[in-house]
Amino acid sequence: MGRSGNHAVVIGASIAGMCAARVLSDFYDRVTVYERDALPSDAANRRAVPQGRHVHLLLARGAKELERHFPGLLDDMVACGVPILQNRPDCIHFGGAGHVLGTSRVLRDEFTAYVPSRPHLEWQIRRKATAIPNVELVSAGVAEPTYDAARQRVSGVRLDAGDDIPADLVVDAAGRGTRLPVWLEQWGFDRPPEGSVDVGISYATHQLRIPDGLIAEKVVVSGASRNQTRGLGMLCYEDGTWGLTTFGVANAEPPHDFAEMCALADEIVPPHIAAAVRKAQPIGDVTFHKFPASRWRRYHKLDRFPAGILPFGDAVASFNPTYGQGMTMTSLQAGHLQRALESPDTDLAREFNAATAKSTYPVWTMNAIGDLVLHGAAGRMPWWYRPVGELFDQFLGAAETDPVLAEWFLRRFSLLDSLYMVPSGKLVARTIGHNMRLLLAEKRAARSRRAHDRDLVPGR
Ligand SMILES: Cc1cc2nc3c(=O)[nH]c(=O)nc-3n(C[C@H](O)[C@H](O)[C@H](O)COP(=O)(O)OP(=O)(O)OC[C@H]3O[C@@H](n4cnc5c(N)ncnc54)[C@H](O)[C@@H]3O)c2cc1C
Repeated sequence: MGRSGNHAVVIGASIAGMCAARVLSDFYDRVTVYERDALPSDAANRRAVPQGRHVHLLLARGAKELERHFPGLLDDMVACGVPILQNRPDCIHFGGAGHVLGTSRVLRDEFTAYVPSRPHLEWQIRRKATAIPNVELVSAGVAEPTYDAARQRVSGVRLDAGDDIPADLVVDAAGRGTRLPVWLEQWGFDRPPEGSVDVGISYATHQLRIPDGLIAEKVVVSGASRNQTRGLGMLCYEDGTWGLTTFGVANAEPPHDFAEMCALADEIVPPHIAAAVRKAQPIGDVTFHKFPASRWRRYHKLDRFPAGILPFGDAVASFNPTYGQGMTMTSLQAGHLQRALESPDTDLAREFNAATAKSTYPVWTMNAIGDLVLHGAAGRMPWWYRPVGELFDQFLGAAETDPVLAEWFLRRFSLLDSLYMVPSGKLVARTIGHNMRLLLAEKRAARSRRAHDRDLVPGR
């Protein structure tokens, strides 16, 4: 096998840290994961992961990738009651950019998705990772990596308590708030160039108990649009409760309380779902979270990067959370790490950072187009974003009534077939044909309405 070493250290024991530890355990004699936050022994929210209290969609691709790294994960989740959606389009209500996908028939291709709550998923992954004999999880914060200037490489970490821990490789999975750009500068390297899109998102979430039998759907998504700066996501969890996250984009205020959430549901989801929300029993208080900007630290652009450290997970890119991609993108990075470690002759950081950039680019770009063109976000907008955004709007319009287009979109949104949201020429032609037929049908209907109105006018 490719590269190997004595000791690897991971900073942070959230989803990214656990994925990294799993992969590293195949290549290093020992893997130590340091976590500053208190970790619960069961599936519970924790202080350092405030986003865990809000709806977390595990995309179908993410489930597949996580199962590859943690075999048995999906069965274990289902055994604990995690809902599973198997080729059942009636389990999903999906609205986005002002269009509701027409997925009301059985999908042609295999489509399986799982709906764990975020604390449950994190707990399952942590349980599996820490069961690996050479992985140790230590309750301690990392103050900073230690840097050996003579060898131009990171040589380990210094803990908050002051101990120096030597390591052959350090993986920074400390999340969006990582200080790696600052440390790079201190060691004499450049900071990575950063891409950001000011999405101005505010979340407000309530846990709910909804009486049985009111909704067949297990996943309800109603995204923002040009005319609606607020949206919601609803997921049914393993314990039968529901997470209802409402949000505002482009600095729009989300609902403040349950009554306002019900009023928003009345506006943007089908009546039977809104009625179920009204009949729900709220559990606990509303929790809020602000996500001002999506951020991509482009480490792959740096000419010089120290050996011995890799940035991982949200520490590299944190995506607009309303698209539900972060955990899936992290699980893809675990595959990049595995492949980079398997090839012994390359510059590990260069190869890994390049592979991460390659998978980040299409997803980041499509998000940016949606956010900047359709959702009122602020940020740098190349000229071609607008026409692509408009074309996409047309595509989604056709997907409302064409199930083939709807299925294509659902699979791509789930990052299943490709990370690129680019329809083939055949699908573009199908979209144009479909929209033309709709337009002609509308014109015919308008003509016959006018003729009918004329016939009603007395004396004609
Ligand atoms: C509001 C919101 C909603 C989201 N919704 C979704 C969704 O629907 N679907 C989805 O796939 N993704 C979603 N995401 C993204 C998802 O939460 C992350 O992509 C995922 O958690 C991976 O992040 P991470 O492990 O890199 O970092 P984090 O989850 O932020 O974890 C970082 C960990 O590092 C620890 N740490 C930090 N510094 C140190 C240190 N110095 N020493 C020791 N430990 C340290 C922290 O305590 C923490 O445990 C959402 C994000 C937000 C903000």
